[in-house]
Amino acid sequence: MAGLDSLRQEFRRLFGAEPRAFRAPGRVNLIGGHTDYNEGWVLPLAIDRDCLVLATARSDRRLRVHSREFGETIEAGLDGPAAGEHHWSRYVFGVAWALGGIGVPVAGADLLVASDVPHGGGLSSSAALEVSTAFALSGLASVSPDRAKIARACQRAENGFVGMRCGIMDQLASCFGRRDHALLIDCRTLDVRPVPLDSSRVRVVVANTMARHALAGSAYNRRREECEEAVRRIAAVRPGIRALRDASWEKIASLAQDWPESIRHRARHVTLEIARVHAAAKALESGDYEALGTLMLESHRSLHEDYEVSSAELNLMVELARELPGALGARMTGGGFGGSTVNLVRAEAVDDFTASLAHLYESRTGIVPQITACRPGDGAGEIV
Ligand code: ADP
Ligand code: MG
Repeated sequence: MAGLDSLRQEFRRLFGAEPRAFRAPGRVNLIGGHTDYNEGWVLPLAIDRDCLVLATARSDRRLRVHSREFGETIEAGLDGPAAGEHHWSRYVFGVAWALGGIGVPVAGADLLVASDVPHGGGLSSSAALEVSTAFALSGLASVSPDRAKIARACQRAENGFVGMRCGIMDQLASCFGRRDHALLIDCRTLDVRPVPLDSSRVRVVVANTMARHALAGSAYNRRREECEEAVRRIAAVRPGIRALRDASWEKIASLAQDWPESIRHRARHVTLEIARVHAAAKALESGDYEALGTLMLESHRSLHEDYEVSSAELNLMVELARELPGALGARMTGGGFGGSTVNLVRAEAVDDFTASLAHLYESRTGIVPQITACRPGDGAGEIV
């Protein structure tokens, strides 16, 4: 991220001290939609956009945090109540609280947050903020907990302090990203395996529809409950099944015939999507980007028809993209009901693809989309 010097200056102006600087990237998920909280696999990459947290320690147990994007400073005691329910500072205070839970001796700090990960666009600006805050507070406490523990603590912060039941993928991707690799993540064991993604051959393009529908959060929570309901139904017949990750569609299809249609469709999406993630990782390993693209299109269809988390704008963005020269695949990414699509595009076609997609989408909807070409980048750390 550009502008570290000017951020250091801003920090000195705000807090009168020389800070240490930490960064954590946003992420985009190539394939594996809604498999994370079912303890399945996902295939995200950390992107070359970051949230920076500049930090110095304080001698009291207070946090003072300024967000450049929100132009606001919040100060409160580490143990005291943080700002209102949906306030951005809850991510920061939530991380301080959750780090305490994994034994990091968090002390007071002054923090400056600045991010070039767009908010609410499917690139997980929230995980970038959490993870960079976690690295900053751990760094000030002179401890380096392992990355999987940091990711878990950040997830706990978002679940318990912000009230969003997110899975673990975003935080793991932000912690473990590797340049020119995607990450095959087992969301049960938290095993992370980098898989090569050759950015000289293909690029990952994120297209934000700039349309988000109300109730996305509550619908997301409802999908999780529906998956839990499917697990209860399977476990009643096959004890030992703890999550949809333990089932395959082949084995549960006949069982599911008597279920309510919505529960059957949710389970079908999750189990087949997990199979697609494994096929996608194999395709990446052998450099078969056409095969990966086809799997992404199948994933989108399943998220739309079986999981019912797409939207008219997401469907349009996918339909427009797949017809363009150099397009290999496209699907919605993130929680759904708006937000972004992720596209796999031949490297040499990426500029024309981006311009044409923006033009076509705007002429069909009147909405100017935000389209970002990404490269897989490195995970979080201190900037030294
Ligand atoms: P996404 O993670 O997809 O970008 P979320 O709704 O999960 O969308 O997270 C966005 C929220 O994260 C913002 O509304 C804000 O509360 C917080 N956030 C992200 N980046 C910053 C930032 N630079 N400064 C303060 N808060 C931020
Ligand atoms: Mg988020």
